[in-house]
Amino acid sequence: MPTLQRTRSEGDEEVTMPAWSALGARSRRRARQTGLAAVVDRSFRLVIAGSLVIVVVLGLLLLWLTTTSRDEVDRYERALSATQAGHTAMLDQESSLRGFVSTNDLAFVRSYAKARGDMELANQRLLSTDGRGQVTKALVDLRLAQQRWVSEWAVEAAGGLAPGAVGSDERTAFLLHDKVLFDQYGDARADADELITAQLATARHHQVVALGLVAGASMAIGLGMFVVALSRRRRLRRDVLAPVRGVLDGLDAVADGRYDEPVQVQGARELIDVVDGLNRMTDRLARARDAAAAREQHISDQSEQLRSILTMVREIGGSLNLDYVVASVVGGVGRIVGADRVAVWLTSPDGGALVEALGARPAGSPTRPPVELGGGVIGRAAKYSRLVTDTGEGGSQRLAVPLVVGSRVVGVLDLELDDLTPLTDGAIEVLETLAVHSATALEAARLHEDASHASEHDALTQLANRRRLDADLALECERSARYARPLAFVMLDLDHFKRVNDEHGHARGDQVLQAVADVLTAALRASDTAYRYGGEELAIILRESDLSAAIEVAERLRERIETVFSAPGEVAVTASFGVAELGPRTAMPSAIVAAADEALYEAKRGGRNQVRAGGQHSAA
Ligand code: GH3
Ligand code: MG
Ligand code: MG
Repeated sequence: MPTLQRTRSEGDEEVTMPAWSALGARSRRRARQTGLAAVVDRSFRLVIAGSLVIVVVLGLLLLWLTTTSRDEVDRYERALSATQAGHTAMLDQESSLRGFVSTNDLAFVRSYAKARGDMELANQRLLSTDGRGQVTKALVDLRLAQQRWVSEWAVEAAGGLAPGAVGSDERTAFLLHDKVLFDQYGDARADADELITAQLATARHHQVVALGLVAGASMAIGLGMFVVALSRRRRLRRDVLAPVRGVLDGLDAVADGRYDEPVQVQGARELIDVVDGLNRMTDRLARARDAAAAREQHISDQSEQLRSILTMVREIGGSLNLDYVVASVVGGVGRIVGADRVAVWLTSPDGGALVEALGARPAGSPTRPPVELGGGVIGRAAKYSRLVTDTGEGGSQRLAVPLVVGSRVVGVLDLELDDLTPLTDGAIEVLETLAVHSATALEAARLHEDASHASEHDALTQLANRRRLDADLALECERSARYARPLAFVMLDLDHFKRVNDEHGHARGDQVLQAVADVLTAALRASDTAYRYGGEELAIILRESDLSAAIEVAERLRERIETVFSAPGEVAVTASFGVAELGPRTAMPSAIVAAADEALYEAKRGGRNQVRAGGQHSAA
């Protein structure tokens, strides 16, 4: 059972902050931590930057394709189509002029004129072609070859100036001249076409290369972004998801009433703050729970204590048996105060010493000697009527609490505690209250014991009195008769005691009477009882004894008295004995008393200082 001195008061809440929440450590950790915004920012910064780069590169590519590259391709395609159109027109001119030269048919001249117009148009388109370098030179060569064909042959042919007649050698030579010039033109035109076609192919190749480069770069950037995104995802899991899971686990633990497991996480600063807050909250909850448990324990201890006090008070208040009261006080005080050893000391009748009450001591335990008033911790407590503390044997804590009734100290409660924690004020108060109740109960029991002793004992000889004899004899007669056990009764009367009084005075007579009583008490078995029958007449009940055994006992007592009182300095006293045993004629107490009394009378008459048996038996 929890005891008083170990009971914690309600306000004793622990205020020590746990290590995890130490401010310094937290701020250091904070400084090392990255914020949630930064974590998220870092995760997406590279992805955003990579996407922007891809968009910009693709945009530039598109711009280049739609402007510069497209223009160049268009230009070369237009040039190519213009040379082809010009060539067609040239062929038409030549075939028309050849027809005219061969037939002189003017219809050919008309078709020549039309073709010439087409050629001019084609040449116009070529002029608008913004050629550069070799292309421009090839186009100039082409125009020069055209011009030569026109000026050196076509103008003459169209003007009807062809030499000779149709079919003549001159005419044939003229036509051959045309062929030479036209072939020159054809070569120039082939060179130009070839050059333009090559330029067109180069421009288209540039487009393909640019597309390939941009696609490759985009793929590389995309791949880099993919790798970065994977690593950022891992970081996000570590810095955000793991702490969030830790918080959720912590909340689960709180919901389950487990407050003693601080959440430990690494991650974004805000989440560390959340975890720190959560840990502080659970710590407070744990402390509140502990405080509530301590309060509950305190209340339960107090009610248990109160119950023990009530039980003890009821026990000691309900009995007038001193041994029982002592045992209850010792047990109750030990239990309530948590003392390892408790003893009760009672003041001696003269009030000068304290004697340990043995009622509660285990049989065979060594008896401690009485303590003088004022001596030792017990004597001081009694003398000054106040609680005295001391160190007991083996370093234990010893307390002596006076037991006071009114203003009179009736004893001392002697406590030993192996626990050296000083008793609280509350415990001392309880102890003193117990002492008040104990003192009253012990004193009442002692007074009762004194009164009942006085009512059944003779004050002078301390032997049991006549009242007790009547009760005991009635009981023993009945029991011996029922169980057919022997019972003997002895009466003795001091011889010539009147003379003793007369010669030595009453006081001396009293002393002699006391001394005779002591002789009887010392000589008898524990199962035999001596009584003062009245005056100087004494009686003895001898249990489990028949007449002959009783005669032996009486004879021994007679001799003893004679011997003791014949010693020098003693008043010479003898006694006469009458003995009777339980029998058919002496089954009633009055009968056995009468038989013994008669035998006593016989002894007196026989000369005194002798033993006589009642009934049929007799002794010398
Ligand atoms: P006997 O041998 O015949 O018994 O002679 P006796 O003198 O003893 O007998 P008696 O009955 O004449 O006297 C008894 C005396 O015992 C008378 C009385 O003074 C004395 N006595 C009785 N009780 C006490 C007592 O308590 N104290 C004292 N000192 N004397 C007592
Ligand atoms: Mg007498
Ligand atoms: Mg007498």
